[in-house]
Amino acid sequence: MRSQPAPDRRVWRNWAGTATATPAQWSRPRSEAEISAAVKAAAAAGLTVRALGSGHSFTAAAATSGVALDLSGWTGVTAADTGTGLVTARSGTTLRALNAELTGLGLAMANLGDIDVQTLAGALSTGTHGTGARLGGLATQVEALELVLADGSVTTCSASSRPELFSAARVGLGALGVISTVTLRCVPSFTLLADERPVPVDEVLEQFDELAAANDHFEFYWFPYGRQALVKRNNRLAGRDRAPGTRIPPALPAWRRFWEFEVMENAGFGALCRLGRARPRLIPALNRFSSAVLSARTYTDASYRVFVTPRRVRFAESEYAVPRESLGHVIAELRRAVPRLADPVMFPVEVRVAAADDIWLSTGYGRESAYVAIHQYTGLPYQAYFDRFEAIVAEVAGRPHWGKLHSLDAGRLRSLYPRFDDFRRVRAEVDPEGRFGNAYLARVLGSHDL
Ligand SMILES: Cc1cc2nc3c(=O)[nH]c(=O)nc-3n(C[C@H](O)[C@H](O)[C@H](O)COP(=O)(O)OP(=O)(O)OC[C@H]3O[C@@H](n4cnc5c(N)ncnc54)[C@H](O)[C@@H]3O)c2cc1C
Repeated sequence: MRSQPAPDRRVWRNWAGTATATPAQWSRPRSEAEISAAVKAAAAAGLTVRALGSGHSFTAAAATSGVALDLSGWTGVTAADTGTGLVTARSGTTLRALNAELTGLGLAMANLGDIDVQTLAGALSTGTHGTGARLGGLATQVEALELVLADGSVTTCSASSRPELFSAARVGLGALGVISTVTLRCVPSFTLLADERPVPVDEVLEQFDELAAANDHFEFYWFPYGRQALVKRNNRLAGRDRAPGTRIPPALPAWRRFWEFEVMENAGFGALCRLGRARPRLIPALNRFSSAVLSARTYTDASYRVFVTPRRVRFAESEYAVPRESLGHVIAELRRAVPRLADPVMFPVEVRVAAADDIWLSTGYGRESAYVAIHQYTGLPYQAYFDRFEAIVAEVAGRPHWGKLHSLDAGRLRSLYPRFDDFRRVRAEVDPEGRFGNAYLARVLGSHDL
């Protein structure tokens, strides 16, 4: 008698350890036909389906008790036109692998977030963004998407073909189908001139609009007990900067990259965090110390090597997009709130900017945004801090990053997104039975029936 294979009861866990799930089944398709077959098989078995990215969302966006679709075997660039910059890649391609392929083609993504381990579709689906007042999130770089829908059929959407599906699916939360391929509009490879230096946070806030307007990619980090912010200005190196006699700082040598990014920002900061977790009373002092030792550096490098840095110290995070003009209020309130918290905060606050866009569930929909991200070291209490933060950003109609911790539900989110019900309508059309549902979507999009 042949024995039945043991059911695969592997546990899925996200990077931050803030979400786990035990899928009923795992599937690792290697072609679009296999993705389609997996969706049809799930329907036949009465199971839901979730595509997995790299597990870097802090929310349980990818969690499923149905079929977990591991797309790590569905990667690589399938088409590229170096003239137009249009590049099509399979959805499970990591941003790191994509950057490497684009570099070989003399192309680059116009903007990126802080890390590159996400999959392309995973990053898009939660509205991942970088910083830059004239640029939107990653989804604004998408020209077309190919999706496997709930009935297993394959469809393409773009601004001219199924435009409503396109408006919904670029930041689709995995709710509309499995993204199979993504066509991006890339730009010629470019070099960034990075300038990072400590500046008093009051000064940064006073000059915030000018800093955002004057730099291609502007952001700052601020340790909430310190007075200094670390301001990062990344600007495209233009022809005029290369004029004879202009001093252009070189790329950081390998030893310095290793020392600053790995030793200081990861190993050293990780050691401070562990000390703080063991002795929480020391945290405000450690925080002030981290703030005081911030130092300046300027260098040039390929864009993706400037945008992205390794993040090895684990943490929990919440991030909200707020109307740009509300930033001063949010930071002032946070400054008042943090010293009153019972549990001190070990990690800095990160502030970025983005242009308005027209993607229905993009945090940047219809308004210029400032992004405020708060973090706490893994294993330290964060709930009271995150709750207080949510109360502050609620006053200014803050919209939560879909991949970062928040407590909002469909009732509140509907009031924040003018096209929320259009998204739900498109979802009901393409996935009438909720094949791609999970508990997170039930909370943020509401019950499947309209
Ligand atoms: C250390 C760290 C740094 C970060 N930095 C930034 C940053 O700078 N900017 C920023 O905005 N965010 C940032 N994030 C958040 C992160 O970019 C998002 O949460 C992103 O969604 C994670 O991508 P992932 O590949 O891990 O996807 P997952 O978290 O695995 O999945 C995210 C969602 O995408 C869906 N999905 C995945 N693949 C598909 C597919 N093929 N079709 C349909 N749906 C799919 C999943 O079902 C899920 O709903 C960071 C997170 C961490 C942990």
